[in-house]
Amino acid sequence: MYAVKVDPASVPDEDITWSADVGNVEFIGGDNKGRTVVVRGKTLGDFKLEIDIQGALSPKPFIKGRVLEKKTVNVYLHIVRDNSGENPAMTIEHFSNLLSGANRIFEQAAIEFALAGSVRYIDNDEFLNVDKAWYLIDGMLFSAVAQLQSTTNGTGGLEIYCVVDIFPNCAGISMKNGEASDGITIDHDTNSAGLAHELGHALGLKDVYVMRTGNIIPANMLVQQEHMRDDWSGGSGTGYYNSKLTHRTLLQRLIMYGTLVSTTADFPLGRVYGLDEIGELSDIRVGIDDMGDRQPTHW
Ligand SMILES: [Zn+2]
Repeated sequence: MYAVKVDPASVPDEDITWSADVGNVEFIGGDNKGRTVVVRGKTLGDFKLEIDIQGALSPKPFIKGRVLEKKTVNVYLHIVRDNSGENPAMTIEHFSNLLSGANRIFEQAAIEFALAGSVRYIDNDEFLNVDKAWYLIDGMLFSAVAQLQSTTNGTGGLEIYCVVDIFPNCAGISMKNGEASDGITIDHDTNSAGLAHELGHALGLKDVYVMRTGNIIPANMLVQQEHMRDDWSGGSGTGYYNSKLTHRTLLQRLIMYGTLVSTTADFPLGRVYGLDEIGELSDIRVGIDDMGDRQPTHW
């Protein structure tokens, strides 16, 4: 479903006409009028929906989209309990609800994560609450999260470990940011967007920040084409976003936003300008273009 806001409300729906400039989508029921339309993909590939309002806008606003082949990715669940096999960090039902929410988010990328195999319990007090930091102990780098995640390998899918708490101040972690080589650890505070964020890392995506190591995205910087080239609407030099929408606000809508907030929901098509985890400015891998074959496995 795609929607546009057209003001004033007195502009009738029948004056708003959508067209698809590539023929790989069709309008459901042939209905291409109004503020909302529903399209169905016919063949794989990119499309662009253009919106015409009685010729009133030039260039016309548009929304880019992509018809994707659906992928199913198996996930293998590992739940930590105490030494006596009691007090699981999370119930299977709770995890299933989180995964359902994450799957709704991943409909944007035509990926469904499916719980596979039987749940494996890890009965070890040491892993109930884990420190995300690395420490140098006897000349060796040690991380409780990495040790937990190394307890299983090569499942052919993604490994997700559930603990009570990851500290300091963390709800989920992928040890190798942007790579799938290790598992994902989440704690009982994680919500569906948080799980989707970690799954995004497994697909090769990176965190994006508005502040990092002293560098910032200015609070008053507005969205602009060169900062989101693949997701811009309306042609060169124009855009049909809210004219007061700041780039910071936009970044905080992205699932790959690196700081815990409640506003994350979106995977863009392409890269978006922002700060990476070491505070450098660039176009960050946060979207569908950088998900590779969308079939990640841990190893
Ligand atoms: Zn992250």
